[in-house]
Amino acid sequence: MSRLFVANWKMNSTRAAAKSWAAALGARIGARAPESDLVVSPPYTVLAEAADPRGRWSLGAQNVSQHRDGAYTGEVSAAMLADAGCRFVIVGHSERRRHFGDTGSVLAAKLARAREAGLVPIYCVGETEEERAEGLQSEVLAAQMEALLEEAADAPLVVAYEPVWAIGTGRAATSGDAARARETLAGLLDGRAGVRILYGGSVTRANAAELLAGSGMDGFLVGGASLDPDSFAAIAGIGGIGGAGRP
Ligand code: PEP
Repeated sequence: MSRLFVANWKMNSTRAAAKSWAAALGARIGARAPESDLVVSPPYTVLAEAADPRGRWSLGAQNVSQHRDGAYTGEVSAAMLADAGCRFVIVGHSERRRHFGDTGSVLAAKLARAREAGLVPIYCVGETEEERAEGLQSEVLAAQMEALLEEAADAPLVVAYEPVWAIGTGRAATSGDAARARETLAGLLDGRAGVRILYGGSVTRANAAELLAGSGMDGFLVGGASLDPDSFAAIAGIGGIGGAGRP
């Protein structure tokens, strides 16, 4: 399985910025297809500008409606995302869990809608600082993974371990922390084949290589550092500028 690096721009970018990001990443990659799979998840409004007409990276969305269509003002359906060129969608990001009430049954519905439209979910899980302090990490991960119970065992899936205390804080997990979480998640996936498990939380070009090598993760979900195309390229090991992509 090739490694996977996902850029999550969150609520950042303009059409002009997305265009120049894509041009810069394209220049870094050059003509040869990258060894790892790359996904960029921009805001909906700049999906077109962030796309690569040459297909060297895929588009992902940051969210999807739990509903198929209809009177849901402000929502964007999975079918619309597929129509806009998305192949992936982030489901269950901790910011959505915390600020928008994305919980178990909502997330299960979002996963189902993504599947109907042929999108591959990047399903995020992770414990808070308090849960970690209370030694509840395994229980929290197990509860969050329950949203996947209705999934077909052979459907392509990405799971991202994103400890809440590491997201946007500059305090990444250690490779040992990530390795232990990976083991827990692999156990919860119960032999389900072909699932890539990523780490996310304050990954930078400075810590990526060590984190990847020491954790056994299949790649990263990158927030803040992905806004800079050179940093994202370096994290993904592209263009001979170091980073974590090459074993
Ligand atoms: C994220 O938003 O998924 C994330 C990992 O953010 P950051 O890399 O900025 O911690």
